[in-house]
Amino acid sequence: MTENAYIPSGGLPGKIKRLQARFLARDSIQINPVRLMVSISFDDFPKSAVAVGARELEQRNWRGTYYAAAGFACTNTHHGAMFDADDISRLQKAGHEIACHTLNHVDLGQADSATTEAQSDANRDALKKLGLKGGLPAFAYPYGEAAPGNKLVLSSRHETLRGVRPGINRAGDDRNLLKAVGIDGGIEGLTKAHAFIDQAAAKPGWLIFYAHDIQDNPTEWGCTPTQFIDVLDHVRETGADVMPVTEAYRTLISS
Ligand SMILES: [Zn+2]
Repeated sequence: MTENAYIPSGGLPGKIKRLQARFLARDSIQINPVRLMVSISFDDFPKSAVAVGARELEQRNWRGTYYAAAGFACTNTHHGAMFDADDISRLQKAGHEIACHTLNHVDLGQADSATTEAQSDANRDALKKLGLKGGLPAFAYPYGEAAPGNKLVLSSRHETLRGVRPGINRAGDDRNLLKAVGIDGGIEGLTKAHAFIDQAAAKPGWLIFYAHDIQDNPTEWGCTPTQFIDVLDHVRETGADVMPVTEAYRTLISS
């Protein structure tokens, strides 16, 4: 079993923890978008998220956000070959955003504050060794798992903290646990992704997508190139603004 196939705690204790993480240590965002804002992000991340993901975004003159867990760098996981230093420099040169996803893809629903801080620092240091330029204003929780204390620790270090609970971010939603929709789950999951685009176009908000591997025969957390392109084409049909997470956030809070 690879590290990423870890399953966070389930049952009632898991549910209670997830509710506490959702409703405590919140920081409400004040945004009122008049147009749909979309951010496309990638977690962990595999090379296919660059080869297919960055290529398709760039063809539309868009850029994405790559939440990197440097512990995966230069390894192979169930997502396939993972990113390396060449990918970091290729993405940054083209204007994509590199973001933080902890060093070792740690479940922050369980980790204590010291571990959380150390994971944030160590990931930054490791990414710098891989050529990262600049900081890491955006953060995504591995598995989407958060805890109130860790939300506070991270909110002072990063501008936005993203989870995996699906939804559209609107005024009053939580900067410390932004909603995001997976580009995954086969036909059923992709139908949901398209429905979120329609909802967000009808009532503008900030819709953040996250993807993993993009390949033929993807994992259950991944999608095929055709499915990825279908999502992008549907976004384009709405006339949405598409920006990396930090650029989108700064644009939304200042307008
Ligand atoms: Zn992840």
